[in-house]
Amino acid sequence: MKKSRGGNGGRSRSGSKSGSASRTGGTKASKSGAANAAAKAGDAKTGAGKTGVGRSGARGLHVRVKTARGRKPSSTRWLQRQLNDPYVAEAKRAGYRSRAAWKLVEIDDRMHVLGPGKRVVDLGAAPGGWTQVVAERTAGAALIAVDVLEIDPLPGAEILQLDMTDAAASDVIRECLGGAADVVLSDMAAPTTGHRQTDHLRTMALCEIAVDFGCGVLAEGGAFVAKVFQGGAEGELLADLKRRFTSVRHIKPPASRDESPETYVVATGFRG
Ligand code: SAM
Repeated sequence: MKKSRGGNGGRSRSGSKSGSASRTGGTKASKSGAANAAAKAGDAKTGAGKTGVGRSGARGLHVRVKTARGRKPSSTRWLQRQLNDPYVAEAKRAGYRSRAAWKLVEIDDRMHVLGPGKRVVDLGAAPGGWTQVVAERTAGAALIAVDVLEIDPLPGAEILQLDMTDAAASDVIRECLGGAADVVLSDMAAPTTGHRQTDHLRTMALCEIAVDFGCGVLAEGGAFVAKVFQGGAEGELLADLKRRFTSVRHIKPPASRDESPETYVVATGFRG
């Protein structure tokens, strides 16, 4: 397990704010900055929220990538998609580390799970886009970002390099948090294999781990957001969430690509 602090505004290992700690420095995209950047991109896509980034033709440009020697057609397609994706361009402009940041922006604009003072755990946080959004919107007492991969320091967040499938991981996070959480987020996804059923099972297993962790750490009234695949949370998992939370919804944020099987389950009002 590796532990690291954010830059200015990072917190100490005990979870208390360090020195002149402030949660505002560092992230280039302030809430309004991100919203403005998104607004500038145009809300071309039906259903995008007011901070949504239009997906089609927002920049009025279409970059064509020629096949290069040694580059696989799949890599050419990926590059072309990246260059023509307004979410990628706007994430770069707003200072977000990933286009995934817009998914949390859109989920939170609809569901209002974040807010000043909220104590948040962000699972599967690398490279840190969601964590940046949380830091902008909470200015709260604790923000812990967890990933099996290393994450570069982020202002306002304590970073833990942990594998959530490790039985000891939950205790380490709880100890670091030093109390209950108001919000548990999980964007965890296993590396895709291309085999749909395998990818589904592996990502749903991570979601179950997130639910277990969330139910062990959330304060009464808390919220849980997690990535799920295909039909969303189903069967026992869905029944469990409905028993433990007053409201359970599925959301496909506009920033989530249509062709992706991902969707998000948003559960609010933890019964404790
Ligand atoms: N939310 C992130 C952002 O905005 O930048 C993107 C998250 S990415 C889609 C999924 C992450 O889940 C990856 O960084 C991956 O390393 C992480 N992950 C997968 N399995 C994990 C595990 N067992 N424990 C912790 N993190 C895991």
